Amino acid sequence: MDRRTDYLVVGGGMAADAAARGIRDVDPDGTILIVGADEDPPVRRPALSKDLWTDDDTTPTDVLLGTADATGATLLTGTEVTGLDPDAHQATTASGTIAYRVALLATGGRPRVLDDVPPGDRVVYFRTLADYRRLRRLAQRGSHVVVVGGGYIGSEVTAALAQNGVDVTMVFPEDAPGGGRFVPEIADQVSRRYADAGVDLRQGRTVTSTMSDDDEVTVTLDDGTTLTATAVVVGLGVTPDTSLAEAAGIALCDDGGVLVDEHLRTSAPDVLAAGDVASFVDPRLGRRRVEHEDNATTMGEAAGRVMAGEDVAYQHTPFFYSDLFDLGYEAVGRLDPTLETVVDHPTDDGTVVYHLDDGRVVGVLLWNVWDSVDAARDLVARPDPPDDLTGLIPKGDA
Ligand code: NAD
Repeated sequence: MDRRTDYLVVGGGMAADAAARGIRDVDPDGTILIVGADEDPPVRRPALSKDLWTDDDTTPTDVLLGTADATGATLLTGTEVTGLDPDAHQATTASGTIAYRVALLATGGRPRVLDDVPPGDRVVYFRTLADYRRLRRLAQRGSHVVVVGGGYIGSEVTAALAQNGVDVTMVFPEDAPGGGRFVPEIADQVSRRYADAGVDLRQGRTVTSTMSDDDEVTVTLDDGTTLTATAVVVGLGVTPDTSLAEAAGIALCDDGGVLVDEHLRTSAPDVLAAGDVASFVDPRLGRRRVEHEDNATTMGEAAGRVMAGEDVAYQHTPFFYSDLFDLGYEAVGRLDPTLETVVDHPTDDGTVVYHLDDGRVVGVLLWNVWDSVDAARDLVARPDPPDDLTGLIPKGDA
């Protein structure tokens, strides 16, 4: 069936939801069509590895963002846009063409998959609400799950499972959970917390292969160890999904994303990009690609406004956050312990870690320190940070 819409949003994640809201704020009447490959409508993605496991009152229905009701958009779920012709203002799906006025690429990223760790009934590359549902069914109290990867997915899902009585083995190449983003004293604290919760930590290890049968999966590590489990959860990072942009001849950036200007316009006429897939200019940190909620929602909304004709520029330095058992943090910029770092302890259990590159603060980790994101952002902006950074961000500084 051929369709026609004023606004076409390709992708069904948080950036897509925010874009529809941005469009609707500016244009009360234009038609919006969202086409997403996921089987579910847009969801509050952080809940998949947090609240849905830790808050008994949160159900899968609660995490749906209610995009269609809030914006009047038409949603095509489980549908891929297979082609885009920017000059003709036309997109293609398996079921027909879509004529549009302005389009947004909010295609996000695809999990990086290892050849010898094929996705399957018991091997979950964790990203969508469907993945959550599958893992919930498999990971019963007392079952054994192997989590592969120590980054955001690996560390959050491990904590979530352990808090639900699941016996977890976590396999990751770094020294501690956290994807190598923490300075040693925080990394040690994190490792201790996971060990205290009964998690079997296989640090410094990678997975080389998995073999599934009807009842369990056998996981082989790079030191030859084998583990058997009811399920394997994998989080090895994502690759920005630029296939549609590439095929349409849209310019990409060296970081693998779709290149956008400050109005989130791509190199093609009337095609914008936002969210995980977009390589944008951060006013403080320069051109970058960010795979976190605040970026997806803030950039998505700005893109929607631009699509509907408002003259807005995206000039935001996004923050991100994580919850690991009772530990948690908010952060801005780059968390890279190989950079020069300054570690400050403004509270008994809170720590601020400043990451510096060439004398400038490029990242701030607010470890168990809350309400200080704006102060961290201001510091990242400064071309001449003070020589002594300690005490600059006290607890509760807004
Ligand atoms: P990630 O980049 O955080 O972690 C990837 C991890 O893969 C590395 O840290 C490493 O531990 C591991 N790894 C690589 N090769 C391995 C191997 N052969 N064996 C074992 N481990 C290996 O990516 P992710 O955790 O997959 O997260 C996916 C996406 O979801 C990211 O875009 C992330 O930003 C996003 N996300 C964000 C949050 C948050 O903001 N709190 C939470 C969940 C997911």
